[in-house]
Amino acid sequence: MAVTRTFSIIKPDATRRNLTGAVTKMLEEAGLRVVASKRIQMTKEQAEGFYAVHKERPFFGELVDFMISGPVVVQVLEGENAVKANRDVMGATNPADADEGTIRKAYAESIEANSVHGSDSDENAKIEIDFFFNEDEIVG
Ligand code: ADP
Ligand code: MG
Repeated sequence: MAVTRTFSIIKPDATRRNLTGAVTKMLEEAGLRVVASKRIQMTKEQAEGFYAVHKERPFFGELVDFMISGPVVVQVLEGENAVKANRDVMGATNPADADEGTIRKAYAESIEANSVHGSDSDENAKIEIDFFFNEDEIVG
């Protein structure tokens, strides 16, 4: 297996409850290294652009409003097979379906306010990393 990168967001429901450290600890314990991190307030345009793949889904407008409802922490994570390692520790989209030991089981409030985003492929990880970070902000 190769060391790869993925992109993570600690969502507004988690930053609001002061869970940035708790979520990051679970990411680190899953073998992922935070090689870039910044706390930002997303603009509506950024949230719409980031989630453009979901724009035909019925929850798109609410999702955008949720993602700009408070600060988020955007991160680049590095590790062995990073996309899968991150998706595994995140758990299912709906916390009702998430396994014990996952971030969403521990912290998510609902299928929408589910505490974390993680890229779903290496290709999308690169696109999402480039959306929020310059290469000189990523220090492994
Ligand atoms: P994931 O974040 O697990 O990759 P998706 O890419 O399918 O899930 O969806 C993106 C985000 O949209 C989810 O993390 C969640 O915040 C929101 N979402 C997904 N499905 C629903 C839904 N049925 N109702 C409301 N929000 C949803
Ligand atoms: Mg997704």
